[in-house]
Amino acid sequence: MATILDGKKTADKRLEILKEEIEDSGLYPRLATVIAGSDPASQMYIRMKHRACERVGIGSVGRELAGDATTEDVLQAVTQLNRDPDIHGILIQLPLPKQVDTERVIAAVHPKKDVDGFHPLNLGLLFSARPQFVPCTPKGIMTLLEEYRIEPAGTRSVVVGRSIDVGRPMSALLTNADSTVTLCHSKTRNLAEEIRQADVLVSAIGKAHFITCEMVKPGAVVIDVGINQMNGRLVGDVDFAGVTTIASAITPVPGGVGPMTIATLMENTFRAAGLTKCDTV
Ligand code: NAP
Repeated sequence: MATILDGKKTADKRLEILKEEIEDSGLYPRLATVIAGSDPASQMYIRMKHRACERVGIGSVGRELAGDATTEDVLQAVTQLNRDPDIHGILIQLPLPKQVDTERVIAAVHPKKDVDGFHPLNLGLLFSARPQFVPCTPKGIMTLLEEYRIEPAGTRSVVVGRSIDVGRPMSALLTNADSTVTLCHSKTRNLAEEIRQADVLVSAIGKAHFITCEMVKPGAVVIDVGINQMNGRLVGDVDFAGVTTIASAITPVPGGVGPMTIATLMENTFRAAGLTKCDTV
């Protein structure tokens, strides 16, 4: 049976360490979140992020815009937060409403306050192997691998899903860690065959139980990013019960990648506070 990569336990440990680091630093990091509309899942994620801030001693403020907010409204909120010297990190809760130009909003966040790591400059630096702020989910996955002493160097890894927030930065991080990476998506031919080559498999597609045990190489490390509803419960992209019999290590859903994402957001915010201390934005 596979080792369970316990993201909840690892995130709790990281948050405890971070709390002490923040106390010792003399800094008072502050995160601002921006949300538009009342999508219940987005509201829940925002609450979780504010709770994590409280837990580690990061101040947090929330900007809540109406569901009919325009691109200009969101840009105005971002500009104010960029200028506020007491705000170190800015998180835009995605998805924004359809009428808002998400790319413009992301590009408007000051790169030194871009704790989500989605700004084109930060993504460019990551892909140039000179990372500054790295998107929280893939960075959290790298931390989890490190915690369990799983070394990507020399492995063959397969990332399924090519989004800006997960798949693409994940492929860059694994490349930077000397893995040989294949990045798959909905147009990939012979997807199951590609997946079967993986020593390290990361699935970020958002399809319940899409990855079955026949698709997984025996002994593979399987990271399940997906969050899906199935018969009223939360499940990942991976058929956990089947794949756990063949993988060497696997993340559960819930309790795997999700908590690592939030812990990494806290780490990025502390880092942003340190940057603005030595440098005016
Ligand atoms: P996304 O932006 O919707 O991207 C999904 C990706 O999956 C796309 O690249 C898409 O390919 C690919 N895809 C979809 N169906 C596929 C199929 N049948 N075969 C191969 N590839 C397929 O999603 P995302 O933001 O990356 O999120 C993915 C999942 O992770 C969701 O369930 C989300 O809720 C979850 N998530 C979890 C966390 C966490 O902290 N745990 C964080 C972020 C996201 P194309 O590009 O060709 O369309």
